[in-house]
Amino acid sequence: MDDGQARQIVERLTDVRLRIAAAANAARRDPEAIRLVAVSKFQPEAAIAAAVAAGQTDFGESRAKELTTKLAASIGVARWHFVGRLQRNKVRDVVGRVALIHSVDRPSLATAIAERAARDGRTQSVLIQVDLRGEHRKGGCAPTDLPALLAHAEELDGIAVAGLMTIPPIDDAPGAAFADLARLRDRFQPSHPTLVELSMGMSADLETAVAHGATIVRIGTAVFGARPQRP
Ligand SMILES: *Cc1c(COP(=O)(O)O)cnc(C)c1O
Repeated sequence: MDDGQARQIVERLTDVRLRIAAAANAARRDPEAIRLVAVSKFQPEAAIAAAVAAGQTDFGESRAKELTTKLAASIGVARWHFVGRLQRNKVRDVVGRVALIHSVDRPSLATAIAERAARDGRTQSVLIQVDLRGEHRKGGCAPTDLPALLAHAEELDGIAVAGLMTIPPIDDAPGAAFADLARLRDRFQPSHPTLVELSMGMSADLETAVAHGATIVRIGTAVFGARPQRP
């Protein structure tokens, strides 16, 4: 990564922050209420370092192995997020190392996370990933399974559900999915008061997500440029 590439990342970050601020203003929301997670999967450590130098605090990874490698590099990231599908045998590589796991979608995974965290005397914050259209493409629980999963997680020590996450369907306007996720959060928040966050919105649809109440946007290519091939 040369100086020009690093400068480009700083410029793109500024653009993304402006897009978030404009979308928040249009929705009469406080831009500070929207956290930008820079999704750095497949990106080199130098790209992350350039974003850190520009004041970016939150970064997201989608594979446990890559997260482990990047943690070992000590790049100065304030908070890591795990946004990808998580297998139970990888839970130990993620729990306690990230501020938030966005992708809990089944009781067995919630149990594994809780047990690992409790053993270390921690509470792991997580989001429940909801698959609103039943695509099963990128994980997520069906909306009808959400109440049972919430109840299950609340029985466990070591895990705290902070909100909901979704990846919108590819061939559908994302706004409907984002509106559905916000409605689910609003419906279950009275009985589950810790259910606050809405992790939704990526490079192509962050404005729509902010308009529908996103509190966390997960942005990859708009910050880092095109993703290199899988490492
Ligand atoms: C890769 C990824 C993103 C970022 O996608 P972009 O379109 O590059 O912004 C967001 N969320 C998840 C879960 C991802 O895997």
